[in-house]
Amino acid sequence: MAAVETKKKAPKSFTVGGRTYPVTDHTYDVVVVGAGGAGLRATLGASQAGLRTACISKVFPTRSHTVAAQGGIAASLANMGADDWRWHMYDTVKGADWLGDQDAIEYLCRNAPTAVYELEHFGMPFSRTEEGKIYQRPFGGHMMNFGDGPPVQRTCAAADRTGHAMLHTLYGQSLRYSAEFFIEYFALDLIMENGACRGVVAMNMEDGSIHRFRAHETILATGGYGRAYFSATSAHTCTGDGNAMVLRAGLPCQDMEFVQFHPTGIYGAGCLITEGARGEGGYLTNSQGERFMERYAPSAKDLASRDVVSRSMTIEIREGRGVGEHKDHIHLHLEHLDPKVLHERLPGISESAKIFAGVDVTREPIPILPTVHYNMGGIPTNYHGEVLAGDPANPEKTVPGLMAVGEAACVSVHGANRLGSNSLIDLVVFGRAAALRCAELVKPNSPHADLPADAGEFSVNRVDHYRFANGNTPTAELRARMQRTMQDDAAVFRTGETLQQGVRRLGEVWRGIDDIKVSDHSLVWNSDLIETLEFENLILQAAATVVSAEARKESRGAHAREDFPNRDDANWMKHTLAWADRDKKTVTLNYRPVHDFTMSSDIDYIKPKARVY
Ligand SMILES: Cc1cc2nc3c(=O)[nH]c(=O)nc-3n(C[C@H](O)[C@H](O)[C@H](O)COP(=O)(O)OP(=O)(O)OC[C@H]3O[C@@H](n4cnc5c(N)ncnc54)[C@H](O)[C@@H]3O)c2cc1C
Repeated sequence: MAAVETKKKAPKSFTVGGRTYPVTDHTYDVVVVGAGGAGLRATLGASQAGLRTACISKVFPTRSHTVAAQGGIAASLANMGADDWRWHMYDTVKGADWLGDQDAIEYLCRNAPTAVYELEHFGMPFSRTEEGKIYQRPFGGHMMNFGDGPPVQRTCAAADRTGHAMLHTLYGQSLRYSAEFFIEYFALDLIMENGACRGVVAMNMEDGSIHRFRAHETILATGGYGRAYFSATSAHTCTGDGNAMVLRAGLPCQDMEFVQFHPTGIYGAGCLITEGARGEGGYLTNSQGERFMERYAPSAKDLASRDVVSRSMTIEIREGRGVGEHKDHIHLHLEHLDPKVLHERLPGISESAKIFAGVDVTREPIPILPTVHYNMGGIPTNYHGEVLAGDPANPEKTVPGLMAVGEAACVSVHGANRLGSNSLIDLVVFGRAAALRCAELVKPNSPHADLPADAGEFSVNRVDHYRFANGNTPTAELRARMQRTMQDDAAVFRTGETLQQGVRRLGEVWRGIDDIKVSDHSLVWNSDLIETLEFENLILQAAATVVSAEARKESRGAHAREDFPNRDDANWMKHTLAWADRDKKTVTLNYRPVHDFTMSSDIDYIKPKARVY
């Protein structure tokens, strides 16, 4: 007979160095961390299912990075010509360079139309065709007839402000149900017990108070970590906090070496010009006025997938055919398009080009450069959103109580390279899937076991440590060093040499954290402290990225090794798993098989092919 346990309860405060941090407890069925498209869709779904749901966000929900998404959301609605979810699946598998899990890709593409119609019924203001249907535009890599046909019009859009329309729609809907929002709360760490997740610890940024959230399911929807790089299209808040929480909990992140560069970031500013600009007929030229994409991708041309276009641009610049005084960027032309199209379909980027490049798009080309845009890697999950534990003996083993969705997750539907407009659809399809899974797993208001006695202690120690960190290096200096290193050593093209240098230089930056200095000791809106916590999060992921990239001795999708220019399916068709040890400051790797099966008999496994553009 099992002994009766007398468990010590978690205390209501922790004292560190004579300072007492009181703890406020909250109990929910489901806690979602993040209020971008993925977090809001999961919050909405879980509360619709009658589960007591809290959503924690470090920024006001409608300021999440999803608000900046421009071009659109992919779904095979066939409003503007023939389309089929199986074609969408083929394109996604191919775009992913065969590193995606095909059961998950099937789930994404099959459920995409339903998820978009749901958004329409929630009131999302899509652009419309003459007949009143949802308008769809062509986007890179989305083709007809299993890659054989011409580009398909699959990307549903609300002008070039699709993310804005989506986020406001989802926030409005979440408020209809009883979801409770904890806004401007910064999640610090997961609460783990015997390999299961019991909830999350957060700090209210307004007064520095510590809050412990106990939940049957915790869903991480914290977005990407673009800010590990110097030049990124993503918001300054994109620091991958959820990924780092997972790493600190001793769990792995997956495929971190795959970082997407978007071909058209505005030169100098890094702001995005949507791929929809090329979808509407825009094209690229070099200093000779040549439409060079015709040489690199004779069939898809300017609408080849992002990795291909970014590499082609980099080669043009390297070979001396860049534009401008320093021959270090490329031109994007829209001036031949009907001003009516620019006004109706691309008003936002016309404005951005004016503000950030001083260019009138009806008259002159926009100066552009490949810019860090998206993280294919993240927290490994299955297609229900359940987090994988990284157990070598059982690669499908999940972590009870923990889910991840959106850019933070690696399901993996984007594999080695994401197609444009496939992220917004990933957010709503898997946000919805995670909520459906919660409804299956959790009975509303079911009782909770007590939290472990040390729940929150580690986080409080960490906060206090950084709050009074009195070294010699300000956080901003270390962050700049990390961002420069990533920009130089883990770029569009990589070699063993640059990556080894990256591993070495990042190791130095990482060790520099022991000498960090935080000047503001207060608990009220202490942005110095928050940025330091975010820096710790970023450096764990930056290290995982370069170490994973150094180890992968092939080129696949966004990971282009000049010393290993070919894809090597025999040795490398596998997911990288990376664990980071924050005390020893080391990263260790292991691998997990790619799913070579689909969900249903409606489509067979799509066998790897050489990529022809
Ligand atoms: C400029 C730009 C344009 C894009 N355009 C498109 C497009 O047209 N189509 C497309 O498919 N994709 C596009 N993408 C990609 C896509 O927008 C993103 O991948 C997606 O929006 C990420 O959504 P998310 O819900 O995962 O995270 P985000 O929208 O980044 O939200 C993250 C949430 O997590 C919260 N959070 C983070 N850390 C913490 C913490 N420690 N504590 C509490 N809360 C936390 C934040 O407050 C926020 O609410 C674009 C990306 C960019 C940068």
